[in-house]
Amino acid sequence: MLANMSSTPMLEIKDLVKVYGTGPKAKTAVNHVSLSIPKGSFFGLLGPNGAGKSTTIQCITGISQPTSGQILIDGTDVVAEYKKARTKVGLSPQEFNVDIFSTPTELMDFMGGYYGIPAEVRNERIEKLIKRFDLTEHRNVKFQKLSGGLKRRAMLGRALIHTPDLLILDEPTAGVDVEQRRDLWAYLKELNEVEGKTIILTSHYLEEIEYLCKDIAIINHGRIVAEGTKEEFMKEGTSIEEAYLKITRASNANLS
Ligand code: ADP
Ligand code: MG
Repeated sequence: MLANMSSTPMLEIKDLVKVYGTGPKAKTAVNHVSLSIPKGSFFGLLGPNGAGKSTTIQCITGISQPTSGQILIDGTDVVAEYKKARTKVGLSPQEFNVDIFSTPTELMDFMGGYYGIPAEVRNERIEKLIKRFDLTEHRNVKFQKLSGGLKRRAMLGRALIHTPDLLILDEPTAGVDVEQRRDLWAYLKELNEVEGKTIILTSHYLEEIEYLCKDIAIINHGRIVAEGTKEEFMKEGTSIEEAYLKITRASNANLS
């Protein structure tokens, strides 16, 4: 029973299609994507702007409804068992979907309330997350006044308030300076390696992907065009950047 449970992938996407709109204006953002991400993975989802990364993430996290296909988080269907599925995943979205007048403490508190976590437990967790991400000095500063790096740290805290096993970070270091980016990397590495969180990350910084991720998939025009371990992408001595450019260029020729 236990062995069976542990072999359940953290995330399974089966033949996901997402079409926006209808008729001649319909846009297929995700085109038959299948992915299986094991527990404990640090997974990098790469692809050019408009490839379908955020749409895929929105379908996983229940923000968007899939047009067809199925998504299971630790065996739980994100559409049929939405309430259960959402407890298993924390999201730091690409665009800040927050009240900019809220403080980091309030952001975590509101999200904790959304998940129905009792105030006492919520407060304990907020204290831990504030310390954890070195937000003590900034805990009562309005979001709009925070630097890019601090904003991302507040979002990370908010994404973890309900202790999800799966953490999804959509471009978590966009607009973050180099030094703060290194700090974020250290937090993320620890969450994965020490706390055992499964992490899915999208990023345009291929150096970041190379540093953090164990497994990588490249999506282009809504389709997965390459998938493998970091080592597989880097064999023959190429960097992730070289491999990425080669693969996206070749797939542009095939898909367009
Ligand atoms: P990425 O995150 O990889 O940059 P997105 O998932 O944001 O890509 O977008 C994939 C495609 O879907 C793009 O062509 C984008 O313009 C389109 N798209 C995204 N969101 C919407 C929407 N709400 N309505 C219509 N089209 C959308
Ligand atoms: Mg995006």
